[in-house]
Amino acid sequence: MRPTPPLRVISSALSAHEAFQADPTLYALAVVDDLGTPVGLINRFRFRETLWQQYGTDALKNRHVGLLMDRTPLVLDEYAPIEQLSEILTDDSTKYIFDGFIVTRRGKYLGIGTGFSLMRRITERRQATLAHLAYHDTLTGLPNRQLFLDRLGQAIASAKRNRRRLAIFSIDLDRFKVVNDSLGHTIGDLLLQQIADRFRSLIRAQDTVARLGGDEFAVVLTELPAFEHAELVARKLLDIVRQPFLLDGHEVHISCSIGAVAYPDHSDSQPGLLRMADDALYAAKRVRDTMRRYTEDMARPSATTPMVFSTIRRAIDLGELEVHYQPQADLRTGALLGLEALVRWNDPVRGYVPTNELIQLAEDAGLISEITHFVCGTAMKQFRAWQLAKLADGLRLAINISGVEVRDGVLPSMLRAHVRDAGLSMSMIELELTESGLMFSDADATQLLSDLREEGARVSIDDFGTGYSSLGRLQRLPVDVLKIDKAFVEDIDTGVRQGALVRAIVMMAHSLGLTVVAEGVETEVQRAFLERHGCDLYQGHLLSRPLPSVDIGKYLKDRHVPQRVVTGARKTRTRAHSAHARVLET
Ligand code: C2E
Ligand code: CA
Ligand code: CA
Repeated sequence: MRPTPPLRVISSALSAHEAFQADPTLYALAVVDDLGTPVGLINRFRFRETLWQQYGTDALKNRHVGLLMDRTPLVLDEYAPIEQLSEILTDDSTKYIFDGFIVTRRGKYLGIGTGFSLMRRITERRQATLAHLAYHDTLTGLPNRQLFLDRLGQAIASAKRNRRRLAIFSIDLDRFKVVNDSLGHTIGDLLLQQIADRFRSLIRAQDTVARLGGDEFAVVLTELPAFEHAELVARKLLDIVRQPFLLDGHEVHISCSIGAVAYPDHSDSQPGLLRMADDALYAAKRVRDTMRRYTEDMARPSATTPMVFSTIRRAIDLGELEVHYQPQADLRTGALLGLEALVRWNDPVRGYVPTNELIQLAEDAGLISEITHFVCGTAMKQFRAWQLAKLADGLRLAINISGVEVRDGVLPSMLRAHVRDAGLSMSMIELELTESGLMFSDADATQLLSDLREEGARVSIDDFGTGYSSLGRLQRLPVDVLKIDKAFVEDIDTGVRQGALVRAIVMMAHSLGLTVVAEGVETEVQRAFLERHGCDLYQGHLLSRPLPSVDIGKYLKDRHVPQRVVTGARKTRTRAHSAHARVLET
């Protein structure tokens, strides 16, 4: 919101003209009466249009400003709920996004808002909840396993730097199953919630208590002068669980067991510490209602410790990786426009390992660029074969790139080599990067993407809406395509916000000149909605699941009609949109 002084009604149109002249970034001006109540809004661009059509600057001197203002602008109280705003914003097509609106405090003018600033707030809000959901257990609100591992990693790194000691507790409730089975899941859930509350009340802000799943909890204590302090905390935790719980009229008594381990006393590696905490818990469980500190004789033969590096190495070297392909199509014409290459790990023991897990492991083990190397090699050769068979005319091949790789600098030469070896050209390639990969990259990384773009590659932002892009930043990034994350597409069906966010993102992306792809489209309702609201391409189970190359080959034979290259929004964008894209740059 801009703290722009408004015009009073008595003003001449000339003063509005002068105000716009003086500030080239001024988007709109509010007109208020003597009490400060808004009576109209003058949008910079509409003002200029009208001016050119009807009056010269000279004629403005004596014109009343009322002649040039919108007398029914959108006026919003500063505390209007954001969900309501997103509805209004996407109603009436794009009017409010482009005209701006007036924000009031108790009915008096406060400032001007633009659709873009509002949309940013809406997406930020949504991102905040998405991030919260991804990292918190929905039942108790505690950090989940993923966030716990993340925090533990940070705590270990910082303890290493500052030569501090940490304690880690692995906690399990005793006889939780009995409560759950005899009193029912609802009571069981209540119990878990109350335990979470009690734990939270005991743990300091710099420490972490998480729910790892079921009745399993974990704690990281930082800055411990001596392990005895951890024992004190463990005693308090045991004690607080022993106090009776009142659950929907039932008095319930329960206890817990704690396995404890200390960094660096027992181990300095995260997997080592976690395994030892579990071993200690196992020992405590045999006694119940007690804490056990890890000792070597507790070690159990473990088959589960992942030897991450060698496992991934082996998967690559022994040819356990495959590439599957998922088509993308134009929402209006249905024409196929691209294939996204998705890596698959077919482990001889475990079967297909979830890809997110593989990518995470590979990033941790520093082997992600080997995966990209494999995917590029395989997918580009395959793509060339489809081209020679006349199955891939006008299609692009999309490759996923991790943020880590954009920073390490070897990416361009690797890509160029693969493109050349396969006999393709860079203009057939699209690089998908997640928001965080793009956002946290430095100027060199951004330059690297610009170079690849100049050679013809397209760059797309993957999972848009789950990271923290600001629109301002988005404008300056070298990107062509925005892929709306699945989570937003799901919203369409649940009808919660009636897909308002999807609509807002599409409008915003178009105003910035980006092509919009919706991911994870599973239903015809979603597809039709996306088409109606101007989204350009879609991808998802509705069109096809990701399939092995043999199946995609068949799919292409059955389905692909040779097409000219359609670039979606670029061709269909209206002049109004591009005018605003320029405007944003001012
Ligand atoms: P992504 O790039 O967002 O890929 C889309 C994911 O959504 C894929 O999961 C795909 O199987 C899944 N998907 C496609 N259509 C639908 C649908 O209609 N409904 C639902 N619920 N899901 C759908 P996948 O293959 O498990 O990949 C997960 C993530 O792993 C990818 O997300 C991408 O970020 C990463 N990834 C995959 N392959 C590679 C790769 O070769 N290199 C790198 N760096 N990352 C990769
Ligand atoms: Ca992707
Ligand atoms: Ca995605």
